[in-house]
Amino acid sequence: MSVTDPVTVLREMLGPKGWLSGSDARPYQRDSLDRYGVAALGVARPADTSEVASVVKACHAAGLAVVPQGGNTGLCGGAVADRPDAVIVSLSRMTAIGKPDLDSGSILIEAGAVLAALHEALEPHGLMFPMHLGAEGSARIGGLVGTNAGGSQAFRYGMMQDLVLGLEVVTPDGAIWNGLRAVQKDNAGYQLRKLYCGAEGTLGIVTRAILRLYPMPQRQASALVVMPDFAAAVSFGTFLRGEAGEFLTGLEFFSDIGLGLALKHLPDLAYQLVYVLVELASAVPRVPLDEILASALEWGMEQGLVLDGALAATGAHRAQFWRLREEQPEGQRLEGEQLKHDISVPPGAIARFVEAGAEICDDILPGVRINPFGHLGDGNIHYNLSPPEGRADFDGKAGRFAEALSSLATEMGGSFAAEHGLGRAKVAMADRNRSPLERELMARLKDAFDPRGTMNPGVLVHAARQRKTFE
Ligand SMILES: Cc1cc2nc3c(=O)[nH]c(=O)nc-3n(C[C@H](O)[C@H](O)[C@H](O)COP(=O)(O)OP(=O)(O)OC[C@H]3O[C@@H](n4cnc5c(N)ncnc54)[C@H](O)[C@@H]3O)c2cc1C
Repeated sequence: MSVTDPVTVLREMLGPKGWLSGSDARPYQRDSLDRYGVAALGVARPADTSEVASVVKACHAAGLAVVPQGGNTGLCGGAVADRPDAVIVSLSRMTAIGKPDLDSGSILIEAGAVLAALHEALEPHGLMFPMHLGAEGSARIGGLVGTNAGGSQAFRYGMMQDLVLGLEVVTPDGAIWNGLRAVQKDNAGYQLRKLYCGAEGTLGIVTRAILRLYPMPQRQASALVVMPDFAAAVSFGTFLRGEAGEFLTGLEFFSDIGLGLALKHLPDLAYQLVYVLVELASAVPRVPLDEILASALEWGMEQGLVLDGALAATGAHRAQFWRLREEQPEGQRLEGEQLKHDISVPPGAIARFVEAGAEICDDILPGVRINPFGHLGDGNIHYNLSPPEGRADFDGKAGRFAEALSSLATEMGGSFAAEHGLGRAKVAMADRNRSPLERELMARLKDAFDPRGTMNPGVLVHAARQRKTFE
């Protein structure tokens, strides 16, 4: 091995804590669903932004692919390598969380910090970062930015791009862009900070962020509500948006199929059948949220939309309600093979999608178990499938389900990639479902930021689509 061998350079640059190879690198090499990832040259774990820049520069000079990785909880295979001449850059050592700026309602944070750690750090200050998702114990800020994560409060507070004020990014050639400005209003040209939200690591590595904070709710009211069907859930959601206004912070749905799977595999969850989880919250303790929610439920019952409901009387009840919703993916995972479809449609079209999707799926594989759950407030349906009872697989029809459901979402004016991104899994699907012009504009953007195509190649746009301007 010559002294200029890039692996030797990186190993010497980063030391034993910062460079992992062989069996130490293995835990970073496969995605969380164990569908993607080949052995890369190694895993770089830089300690700070300047080390990230040095790693990226070295890889750029050697023509190696760079794959940014956060908590590796992504569901589209974007955080792992698809070729051996790649270096995974894990931000797992860059976890510093600054002190919140109380006057501005913001916080400076390193991109490797885990979301749950941020929630914990903010609690004593009476502040919150309004992003909640099932993977929050592992997902890292850089990954949340990379995927423009949504989660259960997105319809109220927005997705990651609405919560990021400033960013620091290492560009594909190793330069450091410092856009760490703690202001919401910054119209000095293209919104680069927003462009990086959802870029899935293809335009650079996010190293630090300034995030927007909100006051911690002082009062909450939650209820689990049983509905006869999805149309009733949609109507009740519409009513709640008007009735509870800005206090409505949670509006999640799941079906008895998903609940059955969760109860089967996670017995401590035992509870009665429920369908819609409603949550109101306010930072003002005097707001009578319980009354607003109780009267909304009463209205729902009078209208025949609500069959039954339970109001959370304590914080423990509330937590149990949320676990019932958030353990839906885990229940399904433990059931065995599954197919995930991350759909969004205009919220008023949820019931129509669920109904039409069920017909399509049953035609493809009769008896397939459909578990639709997700975020009623913003029309995001996790339309997940398990094989028919008694079968362990989908009879080789995974592609047909994905194709049919993505086309249905597109026809209904929605998206086949609501919040998990494209990664490697959905690039061809994007080519089929979006106009050639939209895909071409994305390829041109990628080209402009990364002419050599070394930053997470094959994610979001086909590596082959890039004009190779740099030889
Ligand atoms: C149980 C479960 C529940 C989930 N629920 C939700 C949900 O409700 N809403 C939702 O939106 N997602 C959800 N997800 C998906 C996933 O958690 C999110 O996509 C999350 O944002 C990924 O964060 P991560 O740190 O694990 O990123 P990773 O998986 O490590 O990476 C994801 C993408 O971001 C890129 N990336 C990572 N770090 C950086 C960086 N520093 N700079 C630039 N790019 C980077 C990667 O290259 C990759 O393309 C869920 C996943 C699981 C397993």
